[in-house]
Amino acid sequence: MKYHIITFGCQMNKSDSERIASYLEKKGYKEAEEKDANLIIINACSVRKSATDRIHGKVKKIKEKPTTVLTGCILKRDKAKFSKLFDYILQSNDLAKWPLFGGKETDFFKIPPKRKGVSAFIPIMTGCDNFCTYCVVPYTKGREVSRPAKEIIEEAEKAVSNGYKEIWLLGQNVNSYNGEMTFPDLLRKINKIKGDFWIRFVSSHPKDFSDDLIRAMSSCKKVVKYLNLPLQSGDDEILKKMNRPYTSEDYKNLIERIRKAMPDIELSTDIIVGFPEETEENFRNTAELFREIKFDMAYISCYSPRPQTVAYKMKETVSDCEKKRREKILTEILKENNAEKTKKYKGKEVKVLVFEKNKKGELQGKTAKNKTVLFSGPSKLIGRFVKVKITQTSPWSLKGEIKQK
Ligand code: SAM
Ligand code: SF4
Repeated sequence: MKYHIITFGCQMNKSDSERIASYLEKKGYKEAEEKDANLIIINACSVRKSATDRIHGKVKKIKEKPTTVLTGCILKRDKAKFSKLFDYILQSNDLAKWPLFGGKETDFFKIPPKRKGVSAFIPIMTGCDNFCTYCVVPYTKGREVSRPAKEIIEEAEKAVSNGYKEIWLLGQNVNSYNGEMTFPDLLRKINKIKGDFWIRFVSSHPKDFSDDLIRAMSSCKKVVKYLNLPLQSGDDEILKKMNRPYTSEDYKNLIERIRKAMPDIELSTDIIVGFPEETEENFRNTAELFREIKFDMAYISCYSPRPQTVAYKMKETVSDCEKKRREKILTEILKENNAEKTKKYKGKEVKVLVFEKNKKGELQGKTAKNKTVLFSGPSKLIGRFVKVKITQTSPWSLKGEIKQK
């Protein structure tokens, strides 16, 4: 009765895996290395084709035949394909009904998670109603369902009292949270929990980013002044084809309002390059806006056609090589911006949450604004806040010396 979970994809999947692990342990299973496990669970991501290819790669490597379960974000078409490779394909939120356990129905979110890392991931909602034309999530995860606010607040209180220093509120579009209160009010409530910790949230859709959310972010001290706001494209024609109901001008105005309320905020975004019919000029508009906004971080993806989505039926017009070229151009802009922007950190003292010891033996942590900081120190600091004086900066990370243990 030994289990091993392999998780692909986003924080949401990591969070689901923590609940699966906890449930298995209640049923008497013990966590083990992959080679020793007799139950292997792959928690999959289908957002890009490369993610589904990784499932193939992984399952082929599992030689001895333990029981295998595929769960997570899986397309209908892939379910048929994967059914030959796995013993079971099951939905994670139906855990109690898995034939392995034969239990009665339980509320997935009432299962206390077996937290893995330094951060406490707390899902506040599942699914998505937005149907961006490139995206599988509404098909694999279904419609938006919000968790009751009380349950979320209790989970946050528990995480803080257990010493977690970073609370992540998760949802595909947290701004449309629809529990017994609005998302900004939920932030205000969690901000009131006593203790020294940070609050982060992902993802935000620009169309639902309200002025009240800007007010809540700026007035809540524990909410980090770092925001991921997916732009996807800086070209109005492409945004329309993506079914993203805002224009580049709307996005720019929103960023202006956010920066006016929080002048020190740092911003990241998600961009897709090479969407069907994206011309050189469409891309140039994205590159221009991207340069103008000066993001501090960006997750740039080459468009990957996904079955079941609307864009899947559109003809792909941008070659893989051209997608790579566009991706590289944006990465270069980001690097240029960041090399300049991170210089301001030199000589400054920053608060860092320590995450791990890396392969070089350095401690690695993050600032509230999500900057990676490297420094030397003992492993016992993992999971704690420390003060670090920055001595070196680069586009992607900062190096420093610990000030206080
Ligand atoms: N809900 C978030 C939003 O509104 O942007 C994003 C969730 S999505 C699962 C994470 C990111 O994956 C997206 O922001 C997008 O950039 C990328 N993505 C989604 N579908 C994609 C596709 N078909 N090809 C390439 N990238 C994709
Ligand atoms: Fe996908 Fe769009 Fe929903 Fe984000 S908002 S999960 S990109 S459909």
